[in-house]
Amino acid sequence: MSRQPATHHPTPLPASSRRTFIKAGLAAAGLGPAISALPGCGDAVDRSPRGRAAPPPTRTDESVLVIGAGIAGLAAASELRASGFEDVVILEARDRIGGRIWTENVGGTIPVDLGASWIHGVRGNPIADVARRSGIETRPTDWDTAVLHFHERGAPMPDTLDLDGFWTLAERRPGASLRSILDEYLETHALSTSQRRYLEHLLNTTVEHEYGADLADLSLESVDGGSAYGGHDVLFPGGYGQIVEALSDGLEVRLRQAVTGIDHSGARVVATTASGARCEADRVVVTLPLGVLKNGLVSFSPPLPAAKRRAIADLKMGVLNKTCLLFEDVFWEPGIEVIGYVGADRGRWAETLSLHPYTGQPILMMFNAGTYGTEIESLADQEIVAEATAALADMYGAVPQPTDVLVTRWGSDPWTHGSYSYVPVGSSFERYAALGQPIGNRVFFAGEATNPDHPATVHGALLSGVRAAREIAGVAPQRRPPTRYRRTAGADLFPSTFSGGVAQ
Ligand SMILES: Cc1cc2nc3c(=O)[nH]c(=O)nc-3n(C[C@H](O)[C@H](O)[C@H](O)COP(=O)(O)OP(=O)(O)OC[C@H]3O[C@@H](n4cnc5c(N)ncnc54)[C@H](O)[C@@H]3O)c2cc1C
Repeated sequence: MSRQPATHHPTPLPASSRRTFIKAGLAAAGLGPAISALPGCGDAVDRSPRGRAAPPPTRTDESVLVIGAGIAGLAAASELRASGFEDVVILEARDRIGGRIWTENVGGTIPVDLGASWIHGVRGNPIADVARRSGIETRPTDWDTAVLHFHERGAPMPDTLDLDGFWTLAERRPGASLRSILDEYLETHALSTSQRRYLEHLLNTTVEHEYGADLADLSLESVDGGSAYGGHDVLFPGGYGQIVEALSDGLEVRLRQAVTGIDHSGARVVATTASGARCEADRVVVTLPLGVLKNGLVSFSPPLPAAKRRAIADLKMGVLNKTCLLFEDVFWEPGIEVIGYVGADRGRWAETLSLHPYTGQPILMMFNAGTYGTEIESLADQEIVAEATAALADMYGAVPQPTDVLVTRWGSDPWTHGSYSYVPVGSSFERYAALGQPIGNRVFFAGEATNPDHPATVHGALLSGVRAAREIAGVAPQRRPPTRYRRTAGADLFPSTFSGGVAQ
């Protein structure tokens, strides 16, 4: 027998983008920096190598190896090519490019994103610029087109919650864990049971999902650093992979080349792969994910400097996993984009995105983060699906079995060991800058975890790749006139070659 869903339209989130939601919360409480509507791209590009002595010049006929064909590696290689470097080779461990941008087909033909989905804040965002100039369709997510299902039917629905009080409390102890702040808040504020659970739900979906970590691992300082672009969050009905395709045009990528060692002790850099192959070049751009570096999966000779090793040890990788379910028909609220669920167990299947408004297909993308997101990785696919459908049954009554399923396990993925980086309690955003510091004029670093302004994002990874390429190219006497940088609204850092091969 079908049970009536307990639905409720929750308090609208006070910002158009999830990343700005947290910062808007801080700003509303009089805390934190104002959201940067248009962070200077030069700022984002130039911050990491601050204070470094100018390295000796590089010639553009020198060779460059790029380790990793994620968005950072592709951006670095593309920028190097645009700056006149012709011998640029990317070594990639997987059998595909894109890294944590991963578009797969569900039901055989329908593209869905199992890694990054959104451009977080389109205003001034370089990814939005690439999408626009490449003619790639995007659709805004309306976080207010949401519904909330409460496990306890008949329980009074919570009224609007004032989160400002929580953030104000956090400001008094900015280095303390948000879990301890929440405990203190709950001790000092008389909330009903449903209000408490709703507050936990909000913090789970807007903070823990955002950072892939539990409140116990995050502090105000963890969520108060970096910058965020303004404007809507948008996603790609045809998949984020289209951005990867646009950026990879004309680049030399060697797939299935897992690098195990980087020797930079001699005149040239030598990268050794798992198959024993040796690749030499004058320079190397390392875009290995933080999780790969933390697990010591690639050796460096000489070893990495102490500041970099400390950054690798201090920063952490969060986990956000997706469970994508294709059904015969839509059985949930048509037109709704975000489905919230306050279940019996906090933080389980708490947020789902209906892809129906974007694709016209009956697809649910369900999210789990932090501890629970990590725990489900040890379950078999069918067990994960059973948990997902049980949660859906709790929301909607008897639900049909999905006709196809895709499940991610980013925490145990050997080529990333986590979804994206975060600054845990006791650490600092400065660690990102340390990770981005080059070693001499030979070994350069890029990737989302090297960008102190925009870590854990696609645009942050892209900007870091451009920054690393410019560290090399910026000191290179040009063999030919420099590429003209096209100036577009809000972004002037991309050479026209970024949209090569696609509509301009
Ligand atoms: C589930 C999920 C959801 C996300 N959602 C969003 C979102 O909505 N919006 C957003 O902006 N960001 C999102 N992100 C974050 C975003 O995807 C990443 O920050 C970004 O893609 C990282 O790019 P990168 O180039 O730094 O790293 P990667 O994409 O990880 O690239 C590194 C590359 O190095 C390769 N590699 C690893 N080890 C080796 C080796 N030993 N030898 C050779 N190659 C190696 C990897 O295979 C990979 O291709 C999400 C991430 C995940 C996992």
